[in-house]
Amino acid sequence: SGTGTGKHITILHTNDMHARAVEQSPAMGFAKVAGIVDKYRSQNPNTLLLDAGDAVHGTTFATLVRGESVVKVMNEMGYQAMVPGNHEFNYGSDRLLELAKMMKFPMLSANVKKKDGTRLFEPYVIKEVDGVKVGIIALTTPETMYKTNPKNVEGLEITDPSAEAKTLVNEIRSKVDVVVVLGHLGQDASSTDTSFKVVKDVPGIDVFIDGHSHTVLKTGIVSEHGTLIASAGEYTNYVGVIDLWIDGGKVTKKAATLVDETQAKEIKPNEKVAALVSSIQKEQEPILKEEVANTAVLLEGKREQVRAGETNLGDLLADAIRDVSKADIALTNGGGIRSSIEKGIVTKGDVITVLPFGNQVVTLEIKGADVLAALENGVRSYPEPSGGFPQVSGITFKIDAAAPKGSRVHTVMVGNKALDPAATYTLATNDFTAVGGDEYTMFAKYPVAGMYGAMDEALINYMQKLGAVNIQTDGRISEGKTA
Ligand code: ATP
Ligand code: ZN
Repeated sequence: SGTGTGKHITILHTNDMHARAVEQSPAMGFAKVAGIVDKYRSQNPNTLLLDAGDAVHGTTFATLVRGESVVKVMNEMGYQAMVPGNHEFNYGSDRLLELAKMMKFPMLSANVKKKDGTRLFEPYVIKEVDGVKVGIIALTTPETMYKTNPKNVEGLEITDPSAEAKTLVNEIRSKVDVVVVLGHLGQDASSTDTSFKVVKDVPGIDVFIDGHSHTVLKTGIVSEHGTLIASAGEYTNYVGVIDLWIDGGKVTKKAATLVDETQAKEIKPNEKVAALVSSIQKEQEPILKEEVANTAVLLEGKREQVRAGETNLGDLLADAIRDVSKADIALTNGGGIRSSIEKGIVTKGDVITVLPFGNQVVTLEIKGADVLAALENGVRSYPEPSGGFPQVSGITFKIDAAAPKGSRVHTVMVGNKALDPAATYTLATNDFTAVGGDEYTMFAKYPVAGMYGAMDEALINYMQKLGAVNIQTDGRISEGKTA
């Protein structure tokens, strides 16, 4: 602490905005965030604005135009660099490259590589601010390889963040006054490549701006080798503010803080950004407002529910993809269901919010033994929620939570017959799990036998076929001790 000497620069940062375009407390929305940025820029012209990933996906505002709307807004806000998070890959890497081209600022990542070892993006940028040279090195979570549809990262690899950071810090340390790492790595203990690991492995990083774990660090953390780690939560709930003072090529003081909606109460939203957001919304409105069905009951898609047990929405979706494909069995991962649908009129927007990934319905001709293996995989964390939890149709089974992993599933019936491990079944699923997503590796060895269009279309068509939707869970998945 004490006062810093030398030049003062400010770095503003966001992460995991997930396309939260409009204010919805505690989310501030893009216009308010832009207003905060304006205020800081007017106080100190030597201000940078950076994003630590997961910006272009997460609401219909983004998914309807495959990310382009968010890029337009970020251009207007004056972002100066961003790192792709795992969700930036959700529209495929070709689309990500297109979005990067539309950006008026660089998309950076040191560790996203093609199979020939070359990088997909520039690894870093050096920004000169008031004569101070700020090196910004970017890192993407290796978890992207299994957290998005494998086809979205086909031909790519994501290398060890620490190793890349070490090389690049060495390369630029003597050329710059400040080294910033912009990382979508996160701080979850479940991840091997956290920001904590990188700052421990690599000395010489002044500031690590993090994302991915949605962590709220009110005043940052000073970690190994004196690195200041900052992270601004999620969903535009916060704008991160880092103040740096630099004297004689050295950082003499650094501090991190967050601005939330309460602190920003008096700050005016940026009018241009507000206008841009509402004009994009106006364009999208007719599509989103389109009424496609009616439900007499709430369709349950809450994360803790669909990832831990049968829900009526899980049943409905699995029924829909079985119906469209005429498969014997359907299985779709609970983690792919991203929202509930309220009772009443169902709009296209509601359906896209539930199924934002643009997944396809596919079928596999699969051995009964692998169907069983798939169910075991799906319930491996049960009763803990996990993305792979199977929502099913055409099949019923029981889970013995006390039994060891790999032998928890029993009393498996297809129609009214016991599952035959040696028989071949037609199984409908989505193209994410079909290629091994959520560790459904037993699916990946089968070629796709049939393709039946988009999941959201299948759900809409099935709801229309039902007329009034009035579905309750029917106990197709239940808990019970092995006999
Ligand atoms: P964060 O916003 O912090 O990055 P995350 O997306 O990494 O979150 P989750 O919200 O748990 O973490 O989402 C991961 C889960 O989402 C996967 O386990 C899987 O169930 C589901 N998922 C991701 N991509 C797809 C896809 N294309 N199709 C179906 N399900 C998917
Ligand atoms: Zn993420």
